Amino acid sequence: MRFDIMTLFPEFVDGILGESIIGRARKSGVIEVSCYNIRDYSEDKHRRVDDTPYGGGKGMLMAAPPIYNCYNAIIENTDSEKYPRRRVVYMSPAGALFDQKKAEELAGYDQLIILCGHYEGVDQRIIDEIVDEEISIGDFVLTGGELPACIVTDCVARLVDGVLSDAECYMNESISSGLLEYPQYTRPYEFHGVCVPEVLISGNHANIDKWRQEQALLKTEERRPELLEKFRRE
Ligand code: SAM
Repeated sequence: MRFDIMTLFPEFVDGILGESIIGRARKSGVIEVSCYNIRDYSEDKHRRVDDTPYGGGKGMLMAAPPIYNCYNAIIENTDSEKYPRRRVVYMSPAGALFDQKKAEELAGYDQLIILCGHYEGVDQRIIDEIVDEEISIGDFVLTGGELPACIVTDCVARLVDGVLSDAECYMNESISSGLLEYPQYTRPYEFHGVCVPEVLISGNHANIDKWRQEQALLKTEERRPELLEKFRRE
Protein backbone atom coordinates (compact mmCIF):
# COMPACT_ATOMS: atom_id res chain seq x y z
CA MET A 1 0.00 0.00 0.00
CA ARG A 2 1.14 3.50 -0.73
CA PHE A 3 0.59 6.66 1.35
CA ASP A 4 1.10 10.12 -0.18
CA ILE A 5 0.96 12.98 2.30
CA MET A 6 0.56 16.60 1.21
CA THR A 7 1.77 18.99 3.90
CA LEU A 8 3.64 22.21 4.61
CA PHE A 9 5.94 20.25 6.98
CA PRO A 10 7.12 17.12 5.15
CA GLU A 11 10.19 16.59 7.40
CA PHE A 12 7.93 16.53 10.46
CA VAL A 13 5.68 13.83 9.03
CA ASP A 14 8.55 11.89 7.46
CA GLY A 15 10.40 11.89 10.78
CA ILE A 16 7.50 10.44 12.76
CA LEU A 17 6.72 7.84 10.11
CA GLY A 18 10.40 6.93 9.74
CA GLU A 19 10.67 5.32 13.16
CA SER A 20 9.94 1.95 14.67
CA ILE A 21 7.54 -0.51 12.99
CA ILE A 22 6.32 1.87 10.27
CA GLY A 23 9.90 2.95 9.53
CA ARG A 24 10.96 -0.69 9.17
CA ALA A 25 7.97 -1.49 6.94
CA ARG A 26 8.95 1.42 4.69
CA LYS A 27 12.56 0.27 4.50
CA SER A 28 11.55 -3.28 3.63
CA GLY A 29 9.13 -2.01 0.95
CA VAL A 30 5.96 -3.48 2.50
CA ILE A 31 4.47 0.03 2.41
CA GLU A 32 5.53 3.24 0.68
CA VAL A 33 5.17 6.64 2.35
CA SER A 34 5.98 9.84 0.45
CA CYS A 35 5.65 13.34 1.86
CA TYR A 36 5.25 16.37 -0.39
CA ASN A 37 5.85 19.99 0.45
CA ILE A 38 2.82 21.87 -0.90
CA ARG A 39 5.00 25.00 -1.00
CA ASP A 40 7.08 23.41 -3.79
CA TYR A 41 3.96 23.52 -5.98
CA SER A 42 3.19 27.22 -5.49
CA GLU A 43 3.37 29.31 -8.63
CA ASP A 44 3.83 32.47 -6.56
CA LYS A 45 7.33 33.97 -6.78
CA HIS A 46 7.51 34.08 -2.97
CA ARG A 47 6.22 30.45 -2.76
CA ARG A 48 3.13 31.63 -0.90
CA VAL A 49 0.55 29.01 -0.11
CA ASP A 50 -1.99 30.98 1.92
CA ASP A 51 -4.14 34.08 1.72
CA THR A 52 -6.78 35.99 3.67
CA PRO A 53 -10.34 34.61 3.59
CA TYR A 54 -12.92 36.24 1.33
CA GLY A 55 -15.59 37.95 3.43
CA GLY A 56 -13.11 38.80 6.17
CA GLY A 57 -12.31 37.03 9.39
CA LYS A 58 -9.22 36.12 11.32
CA GLY A 59 -6.32 34.02 10.09
CA MET A 60 -5.14 32.72 6.76
CA LEU A 61 -6.44 29.98 4.50
CA MET A 62 -4.42 27.57 2.40
CA ALA A 63 -5.08 28.41 -1.24
CA ALA A 64 -6.36 25.84 -3.76
CA PRO A 65 -3.80 26.11 -6.63
CA PRO A 66 -0.62 24.80 -4.87
CA ILE A 67 -2.60 21.90 -3.36
CA TYR A 68 -4.10 21.09 -6.73
CA ASN A 69 -0.66 21.15 -8.43
CA CYS A 70 0.75 18.90 -5.71
CA TYR A 71 -2.17 16.47 -6.05
CA ASN A 72 -1.75 16.36 -9.83
CA ALA A 73 1.95 15.60 -9.50
CA ILE A 74 1.11 12.66 -7.20
CA ILE A 75 -1.50 11.33 -9.61
CA GLU A 76 0.87 11.66 -12.57
CA ASN A 77 3.51 9.70 -10.65
CA THR A 78 1.14 6.91 -9.67
CA ASP A 79 1.05 3.70 -11.67
CA SER A 80 -2.72 3.18 -11.66
CA GLU A 81 -2.33 -0.49 -12.62
CA LYS A 82 -0.21 -1.12 -9.53
CA TYR A 83 -2.43 1.09 -7.32
CA PRO A 84 -5.96 0.87 -8.81
CA ARG A 85 -7.96 1.75 -5.69
CA ARG A 86 -7.28 5.26 -4.41
CA ARG A 87 -8.80 7.32 -1.59
CA VAL A 88 -8.17 11.02 -0.92
CA VAL A 89 -8.64 12.19 2.64
CA TYR A 90 -8.53 15.67 4.17
CA MET A 91 -7.64 15.75 7.87
CA SER A 92 -10.18 18.11 9.44
CA PRO A 93 -11.82 18.68 12.83
CA ALA A 94 -15.06 18.95 10.84
CA GLY A 95 -14.68 15.42 9.44
CA ALA A 96 -16.18 12.10 10.53
CA LEU A 97 -14.52 10.69 13.64
CA PHE A 98 -11.70 8.25 12.91
CA ASP A 99 -11.98 4.78 14.42
CA GLN A 100 -10.70 1.23 13.91
CA LYS A 101 -13.52 0.44 11.47
CA LYS A 102 -12.53 3.37 9.29
CA ALA A 103 -8.87 2.26 9.48
CA GLU A 104 -9.89 -1.21 8.27
CA GLU A 105 -11.90 0.33 5.44
CA LEU A 106 -8.98 2.56 4.36
CA ALA A 107 -6.59 -0.42 4.50
CA GLY A 108 -8.65 -1.87 1.65
CA TYR A 109 -7.32 0.80 -0.75
CA ASP A 110 -4.01 0.61 -2.61
CA GLN A 111 -3.24 4.30 -2.29
CA LEU A 112 -4.18 6.77 0.41
CA ILE A 113 -3.55 10.44 -0.37
CA ILE A 114 -3.77 12.62 2.73
CA LEU A 115 -4.09 16.40 2.75
CA CYS A 116 -2.92 18.19 5.90
CA GLY A 117 -4.43 21.61 6.51
CA HIS A 118 -2.83 24.46 8.44
CA TYR A 119 -3.75 27.95 9.60
CA GLU A 120 -7.57 28.27 9.35
CA GLY A 121 -7.83 25.33 6.97
CA VAL A 122 -8.09 25.10 3.18
CA ASP A 123 -10.17 26.69 0.42
CA GLN A 124 -13.46 24.76 0.15
CA ARG A 125 -13.06 24.37 -3.62
CA ILE A 126 -10.06 22.07 -3.26
CA ILE A 127 -12.02 19.88 -0.86
CA ASP A 128 -14.93 19.74 -3.28
CA GLU A 129 -12.68 18.90 -6.21
CA ILE A 130 -10.19 16.31 -4.96
CA VAL A 131 -11.25 15.01 -1.53
CA ASP A 132 -13.31 11.82 -1.08
CA GLU A 133 -13.80 12.26 2.66
CA GLU A 134 -12.86 14.43 5.62
CA ILE A 135 -11.61 12.68 8.73
CA SER A 136 -11.20 14.03 12.26
CA ILE A 137 -9.09 12.33 14.92
CA GLY A 138 -11.21 13.76 17.74
CA ASP A 139 -13.33 16.61 19.02
CA PHE A 140 -10.47 19.04 19.56
CA VAL A 141 -8.58 21.43 17.32
CA LEU A 142 -4.87 21.12 16.48
CA THR A 143 -2.66 23.62 14.68
CA GLY A 144 -2.23 21.36 11.64
CA GLY A 145 -3.19 18.10 9.99
CA GLU A 146 0.31 16.58 10.31
CA LEU A 147 -0.20 14.69 13.57
CA PRO A 148 -3.66 13.47 12.47
CA ALA A 149 -2.13 12.28 9.16
CA CYS A 150 0.56 10.37 11.09
CA ILE A 151 -2.09 8.79 13.31
CA VAL A 152 -4.21 7.66 10.37
CA THR A 153 -1.18 6.39 8.43
CA ASP A 154 0.18 4.48 11.44
CA CYS A 155 -3.18 2.92 12.23
CA VAL A 156 -3.94 1.92 8.62
CA ALA A 157 -0.38 0.78 7.81
CA ARG A 158 -0.24 -1.69 10.71
CA LEU A 159 -3.23 -3.48 9.15
CA VAL A 160 -1.35 -4.02 5.90
CA ASP A 161 -0.08 -7.61 5.49
CA GLY A 162 3.56 -7.89 6.48
CA VAL A 163 3.76 -4.70 8.58
CA LEU A 164 3.21 -6.55 11.86
CA SER A 165 4.99 -9.84 12.30
CA ASP A 166 1.79 -11.70 13.20
CA ALA A 167 -1.81 -10.74 12.27
CA GLU A 168 -2.89 -12.03 15.68
CA CYS A 169 -1.07 -9.06 17.18
CA TYR A 170 -4.00 -6.88 16.19
CA MET A 171 -6.85 -9.39 16.14
CA ASN A 172 -6.87 -9.67 19.96
CA GLU A 173 -6.20 -6.03 20.71
CA SER A 174 -8.36 -3.43 22.41
CA ILE A 175 -11.06 -2.14 20.03
CA SER A 176 -10.11 -4.50 17.14
CA SER A 177 -11.59 -7.45 19.04
CA GLY A 178 -14.66 -5.40 20.05
CA LEU A 179 -13.51 -5.39 23.69
CA LEU A 180 -10.71 -3.69 25.60
CA GLU A 181 -7.67 -5.89 26.00
CA TYR A 182 -7.17 -7.98 29.16
CA PRO A 183 -4.25 -7.00 31.45
CA GLN A 184 -0.84 -8.30 30.35
CA TYR A 185 2.25 -9.18 32.39
CA THR A 186 5.89 -9.98 31.72
CA ARG A 187 8.98 -10.75 33.85
CA PRO A 188 9.78 -10.27 36.70
CA TYR A 189 7.22 -12.57 38.29
CA GLU A 190 7.05 -10.27 41.35
CA PHE A 191 7.23 -6.47 41.09
CA HIS A 192 6.96 -4.22 44.17
CA GLY A 193 5.31 -7.07 46.05
CA VAL A 194 2.71 -7.79 43.35
CA CYS A 195 2.82 -11.21 41.67
CA VAL A 196 1.58 -12.19 38.22
CA PRO A 197 -1.89 -13.87 38.38
CA GLU A 198 -1.33 -17.59 39.02
CA VAL A 199 -3.45 -18.71 36.08
CA LEU A 200 -0.92 -17.19 33.65
CA ILE A 201 1.88 -19.45 34.88
CA SER A 202 -0.34 -22.55 35.15
CA GLY A 203 0.41 -23.70 31.60
CA ASN A 204 -3.31 -24.50 31.18
CA HIS A 205 -4.19 -22.66 27.98
CA ALA A 206 -7.92 -23.23 28.18
CA ASN A 207 -7.94 -21.60 31.63
CA ILE A 208 -5.70 -18.77 30.44
CA ASP A 209 -8.03 -18.03 27.50
CA LYS A 210 -11.05 -18.12 29.83
CA TRP A 211 -9.36 -15.76 32.33
CA ARG A 212 -8.35 -13.34 29.56
CA GLN A 213 -11.87 -13.27 28.14
CA GLU A 214 -13.35 -12.60 31.59
CA GLN A 215 -10.82 -9.85 32.26
CA ALA A 216 -11.52 -8.23 28.88
CA LEU A 217 -15.26 -8.25 29.62
CA LEU A 218 -14.75 -6.78 33.10
CA LYS A 219 -12.43 -4.03 31.90
CA THR A 220 -14.75 -3.09 29.04
CA GLU A 221 -17.78 -3.03 31.33
CA GLU A 222 -15.95 -0.76 33.76
CA ARG A 223 -14.39 1.66 31.27
CA ARG A 224 -16.46 1.52 28.07
CA PRO A 225 -19.94 0.08 28.78
CA GLU A 226 -21.18 1.26 25.39
CA LEU A 227 -18.54 -0.92 23.67
CA LEU A 228 -19.66 -3.93 25.67
CA GLU A 229 -23.27 -3.35 24.68
CA LYS A 230 -22.26 -3.16 21.02
CA PHE A 231 -20.10 -6.30 21.39
CA ARG A 232 -23.05 -8.23 22.86
CA ARG A 233 -25.40 -7.03 20.13
CA GLU A 234 -23.08 -8.08 17.26
N1 SAM B 1 -10.84 26.49 10.96
C1 SAM B 1 -10.86 25.06 10.98
C2 SAM B 1 -12.20 24.58 11.51
O1 SAM B 1 -12.80 25.27 12.33
O2 SAM B 1 -12.66 23.48 11.10
C3 SAM B 1 -9.75 24.51 11.86
C4 SAM B 1 -8.42 24.64 11.25
S1 SAM B 1 -7.17 23.87 12.21
C5 SAM B 1 -6.58 25.18 13.19
C6 SAM B 1 -5.87 23.66 11.05
C7 SAM B 1 -5.76 22.29 10.43
O3 SAM B 1 -5.44 21.36 11.43
C8 SAM B 1 -6.99 21.76 9.77
O4 SAM B 1 -7.11 22.23 8.45
C9 SAM B 1 -6.79 20.27 9.82
O5 SAM B 1 -6.02 19.80 8.72
C10 SAM B 1 -5.97 20.08 11.10
N2 SAM B 1 -6.75 19.62 12.26
C11 SAM B 1 -6.99 20.30 13.39
N3 SAM B 1 -7.69 19.59 14.27
C12 SAM B 1 -7.92 18.38 13.69
C13 SAM B 1 -8.61 17.20 14.09
N4 SAM B 1 -9.23 17.12 15.25
N5 SAM B 1 -8.62 16.16 13.23
C14 SAM B 1 -8.03 16.24 12.03
N6 SAM B 1 -7.36 17.33 11.59
C15 SAM B 1 -7.30 18.39 12.40
